[in-house]
Amino acid sequence: MATWQCVKTCGACCFLAPDERPDLESYLDPDQLALYLSMVGEDGWCIHYNKGDRLCAIYPERPTFCRVTFSTFETMFGVTADQLDDFAIDCCQEHIADIYGDESPEMERFNRAVGVDE
Ligand code: SF4
Ligand code: SF4
Repeated sequence: MATWQCVKTCGACCFLAPDERPDLESYLDPDQLALYLSMVGEDGWCIHYNKGDRLCAIYPERPTFCRVTFSTFETMFGVTADQLDDFAIDCCQEHIADIYGDESPEMERFNRAVGVDE
């Protein structure tokens, strides 16, 4: 069974351009949405994302919507505990495909880490 994990030096989910996330209003409350939009840089990347080392500059204090936990995913997406791994893996694969491509080394690395073949 595949188990979700974040892989280092990926950062694909830190590209926040709202055009890429048309359903934001459906899972963020007004305060969270305002916070999210305040974090979008001119190039679409989060203003806290360091593109050089692909790390979050505020990782310990990052917003709840940046955290992959059962409680955040349950609140935002109505995911049940047994759906969490598959749901989070799909989300990551979608972000990684958008940013780096389906056949990218980042996708390969992620799939290997979480235990899926492709
Ligand atoms: S897309 Fe997934 S693997 Fe990549 S940084 Fe975000 S949570 Fe981690
Ligand atoms: S706050 Fe950190 S984890 Fe959240 S989008 Fe920005 S760089 Fe990524």
